[in-house]
Amino acid sequence: MAKKPEKAKPEKAKRPEKAQRPDSAKQPENAKPDKAAKPDTLWKTPADEALRWVRGTDLSTLDETSTPGWAGKRADGEALLAARAPQLAELQERLFAHGRTGGDRSVLLVLQGLDTSGKGGIVRHAVGMVDPQGVQHRGFGVPTEEEREHDYLWRVRNALPRPGYLGVFDRSHHEQVLVVRVDRLEPVRTWRKHFRELNDFEAEVAASGTLIVKVALFVSPDEQKKRLAERLDRPDKHWKYNPSDIDVREKLPQYLAAYQEMLDRTSTPVAPWYAVPADRKWYARLAVTELLTGALRSLDLDWPPATFDIEAEKARLAAS
Ligand code: AMP
Ligand code: MG
Repeated sequence: MAKKPEKAKPEKAKRPEKAQRPDSAKQPENAKPDKAAKPDTLWKTPADEALRWVRGTDLSTLDETSTPGWAGKRADGEALLAARAPQLAELQERLFAHGRTGGDRSVLLVLQGLDTSGKGGIVRHAVGMVDPQGVQHRGFGVPTEEEREHDYLWRVRNALPRPGYLGVFDRSHHEQVLVVRVDRLEPVRTWRKHFRELNDFEAEVAASGTLIVKVALFVSPDEQKKRLAERLDRPDKHWKYNPSDIDVREKLPQYLAAYQEMLDRTSTPVAPWYAVPADRKWYARLAVTELLTGALRSLDLDWPPATFDIEAEKARLAAS
């Protein structure tokens, strides 16, 4: 995790590259991007390694403006994001084909983050690169009346990706140890049990063939303020604004504590968390694209073999 250069500075350092991991710091800040270099070599540490949550890390030291593992500039990042599209699309299509031919694998991308952390942008720019027919997207808001009649995992189970699908959760069952904890929607004795329940649930989901990738996006309070101001200024963004977003800002320390414990207690080998700094939208989108590409690649799915005699079918077609 990239650390903050120093804590509690009123004016955030504008050159966060300094705060990166030592390996990426080897690249001089003003170095020209090497045009000859393949853009993916600019990952000095693979996203999976640079972002994977390490239990006990102090979340308050995360620098939201940093770009862990990435030694390139914004333009390089945008170039790699574009270059990933065909790869990501092909991997997702292999997954879809696998599902269509009796396979049981699926992928679930869980996105958590406070308002304006860029969850929607990730869905548009990273997930948006694949065939929408193979995506099962679900956003989780305040539970509806019907949802409240069931236990909190009911709506989540119903939204799990079917074999062959890429499931995307915009917020998730983890709200049960976030908003539910911060807003005291349940007494301590019940919400504290959720850590264990969430882990048991995810172990079950993973055992059924779903590869789980959990991404927590972190936007700094200053950047969040800017993004909320934009939502207020622009008529095309008013629909995204909710007056309660300001209430959440007033509870940031409580959310920080809740996120810290969520990461520490629900990051497991079968459902690891990745903590992604999100002040630089291009970085967060690139990082999640890398995580998703890596996850799909790790399934190592071949195209399903033909279930018919290819030559005979060619002959039939020719004669038709
Ligand atoms: P948005 O993502 O902006 O559409 O907002 C969704 C809202 O639903 C957020 O304020 C969440 O905190 C809230 N929310 C999501 N899950 C729960 C839950 N289980 N209980 C209460 N509120 C929730
Ligand atoms: Mg909102």
